[in-house]
Amino acid sequence: MPELPEVETVRAELAPALTGRRFRTVEILDERLTRPVDPREVAARLEGERVASVDRRGKYVVVRFESGLVLLVHLRMTGSFLIAPRGGLPADPHRRAVVTLDNGADVAYRDVRRFGTWLVLEEEDLGSYLEARLGEEPLGARFTTRQLERRLGGRRAPVKAALLDQRTVAGLGNIYADEALWYAGVDPLRPAGTLDQAEVAAVRRGVRRALRVGIRRQGATLSDYMTPNGGRGSMQEEFKVYGRDGEPCLRCGTLIEKTRAGGRGTCYCPVCQR
Ligand SMILES: [Zn+2]
Repeated sequence: MPELPEVETVRAELAPALTGRRFRTVEILDERLTRPVDPREVAARLEGERVASVDRRGKYVVVRFESGLVLLVHLRMTGSFLIAPRGGLPADPHRRAVVTLDNGADVAYRDVRRFGTWLVLEEEDLGSYLEARLGEEPLGARFTTRQLERRLGGRRAPVKAALLDQRTVAGLGNIYADEALWYAGVDPLRPAGTLDQAEVAAVRRGVRRALRVGIRRQGATLSDYMTPNGGRGSMQEEFKVYGRDGEPCLRCGTLIEKTRAGGRGTCYCPVCQR
């Protein structure tokens, strides 16, 4: 599932291809993508719009148009984009939408599991929509130890589960939450509210470090994730704990264990994560 680093990589590749271009035609092939709104209505609203910017908030791609309209895309489990600069998209049974730009390039959206969403809204409604769903941007200046302490304080849920809650901090999923807690040296099963200030500070640093490594590596390539330009991320080569159960901890040599937290498989070192 794409998390912040994967979505940031998608954004970074879409931005130069889309910014300043007009959506000449929009074809939405799957009504699940826009439901409950009729896909023809969404396509009609987007046609003719010129892109002002391509941004990201949490795991959302935010396409802003000059008119004040916004297309908010969530890739969920398996959504991805592919840019075909001179048209000529390869056949794909999992294609759910195609945007043809005013320079003739095609931007295709693919989604095997079909959980991804495209939502069109007005800029003035975007803030309240996102604020209701998302906590701070973890790489932003407002993601402070004090702020994270407030979000974790009093919670009995495991800290891993609290980090997966997008209202705690935006953009983390299973991979980067496990990596962050390993960097922090904090046991993922600890009730979130029991962390002291030094531990919260370590979690904050761990979150930022894990995400920065992920962005530098253009995300992780698990199963068939591809970037819009057809590239693949290499974060999987940097994993410290995720998917490494049964292998030695890179810090202390103890075998990495796997448990469940917040309903998700969770890898951790039983010795150096306390
Ligand atoms: Zn260890």
